[in-house]
This record gives sequence, C-alpha cells and structure tokens, in this order.
Amino acid sequence: MKSDCIFCKIVAGQLPACKVYEDAETLAFMDIGPIVPGHTLVIPKLHIDPLTAAPPAILQKLILVVQNIARAQLSAFKADGVNVIQANGRAAGQVVPHLHFHVIPRFATDGHHWNWKPHPYAKSEEMSALAEKIKGALG
Ligand code: 5GP
Ligand code: ZN
Repeated sequence: MKSDCIFCKIVAGQLPACKVYEDAETLAFMDIGPIVPGHTLVIPKLHIDPLTAAPPAILQKLILVVQNIARAQLSAFKADGVNVIQANGRAAGQVVPHLHFHVIPRFATDGHHWNWKPHPYAKSEEMSALAEKIKGALG
C-alpha cells in the first residue's frame, strides 16, 4: 500500500467506496465523478502504476474483470455501448497515479462527446518512420 494513494486507501477500507466487485487481486467500484452514470473503475489491489509496470498475471486478471463489468453494464443498464479508458501520466490526463481502467456505459442519448480531433500526417513517410520506431522498441 502507498500511504498517500487514495485508491490504496479505498482498498484498505480507509476511504469509503461503492464497490461492485472484489476478489483477491482486483476491486471494481463506482467513480465519484462519472462521465456517464454507472461509470465504474477497475483497479489492482496492489499499488501498481503505470500500466507498463503491471505484472502480466495481474493485468490478465484486470482485463477479465473489465470485460465482466462491461457485460454487466450492457445488460443491467441496457447500454448501447461501453468505453474502456486507461490513462498513464499527467500528459495523458491521469489524475490518480494507481493503475485503473474506466469502464463507462454509453447510450445513444447520453450527450457525451470525446474531444477527439484527428491530426492526419502531412506525409505517409512520417507515419512509417514512427511505426519503425515502435517496432524497434517492442519487447
Ligand atoms: P484518471 O483521470 O486518473 O484516469 O481518473 C481518476 C478517476 O478517479 C476520476 O474519474 C475521478 O472521478 C475518480 N476519483 C477520484 N477520487 C475518487 C475517490 O475518492 N473515489 C472514487 N470512487 N473515485 C474517485
Ligand atoms: Zn495506490
């Protein structure tokens, strides 16, 4: 546990949370600032951050819980879709530095729109060069 981490405090029972699922390694609870009502967070009980530091076994467990929560939102709320969002680092919009997946039920009528602005590459060579860099850095 990291003593100044709010999600670790939720895991430890030192802060309240509206829990929807729990097992030995993972916890899912309602986000207090939902983008759409029903917005749920899925976290490892261990303090892990960022995603790239997560042990594979824990990550596998987490993504299966994410899938289960998404299925539950679709059936319980009759949602039209689900967004799964995961941020790493302040530049990516992460506020709480404890690995978490946002699972957000979506409805055709929910009125939420992502501020997602495509910036096409000026030259295809630029895209290819970046792809080569990623390929060269893969583990
Ligand atoms: P991030 O921006 O780090 O990806 O998302 C952090 C999320 O945690 C936000 O959606 C925010 O509403 C939620 N959050 C922050 N503090 C608390 C809290 O104390 N309890 C709960 N349930 N959610 C929290
Ligand atoms: Zn933590």
